[in-house]
Amino acid sequence: MVEEVELVLDKYRSAGRILAEVREEAVGLVKEGNLLLEVAEFVENRVREKGGEPAFPCNISRNEEAAHATPSGDDKTVFGNADLVKLDLGVHVDGFIADSAVTVDLSGGGENEGLVRAAEAALNEALKIIRDGVSTVEISEIIENTVRERGYKPIVNLTGHGLARYNSHAPPTIPNVKYEHGGGAVLREYDIVAIEPFATDARGAGKVVEGGGGRGSAEIFSLLRPRPVRVREAKRLLEAVKKYRGLPFAKRWLPRERLDLALRTLKNAGMLREYPVLREEEKGLVSQAEHTVIVRWDGCEVTTK
Ligand code: MN
Ligand code: MN
Repeated sequence: MVEEVELVLDKYRSAGRILAEVREEAVGLVKEGNLLLEVAEFVENRVREKGGEPAFPCNISRNEEAAHATPSGDDKTVFGNADLVKLDLGVHVDGFIADSAVTVDLSGGGENEGLVRAAEAALNEALKIIRDGVSTVEISEIIENTVRERGYKPIVNLTGHGLARYNSHAPPTIPNVKYEHGGGAVLREYDIVAIEPFATDARGAGKVVEGGGGRGSAEIFSLLRPRPVRVREAKRLLEAVKKYRGLPFAKRWLPRERLDLALRTLKNAGMLREYPVLREEEKGLVSQAEHTVIVRWDGCEVTTK
């Protein structure tokens, strides 16, 4: 039993190590004029080279975008000279997931440094109190207070979360504000959780809504429950995406032939979840910091450091 637990923990650690290495390399590529697509593909290929698999498409969200942005297959977008870039990476080893994000500020004068630091500080303060027996309410409270003390707003409808095998959003939900969330949950030793504070500036509403950056439809999907389908294109697509075992995948990972028809058919049959880009409601700038941890009796082990 103990050996089995250690075997699983080692897979979480391997995923975290791969993620941390690739994250560092990827940050170096986030530069004015570089293609977003180039960075996303670099991340996903590098993860595979190192023996992992992407747990979800490389998310590159800029400025008021908070999450779920990933370039399309023919995306020509490049980083701008003042972009505030959230790079959110997922790696799995045999289904055991690491999830981590950093914010890269491309504005030369460091004018967004306070906002970036607010999310990082909130993450660090949260990590300090995580141990067996801690309540998610305490974590939410320390995140909210740390962000507000620095003069920024936490984003109320984006949350940290548990991780489980082939499940990138398992219970419990760990909000970034201490509103009444049904008393919360108590973390126990060997729970795996991702903590991810998001902060926005004075202009922001502190809330995200769907529909980012003037882009079209979603680029990220996941398979809910496979059922028999008749349309040939849909059948082929269904077979192609089963291998992700319910984890999110990018449209650009799929065979292009009659792809929109196939996606629409599966979506209409209730088999696909779509992840539209989430952006700050009032277009406030958004920063994010995220690590994955293993809860221990006396603290926590960060797998993605
Ligand atoms: Mn993430
Ligand atoms: Mn996450």
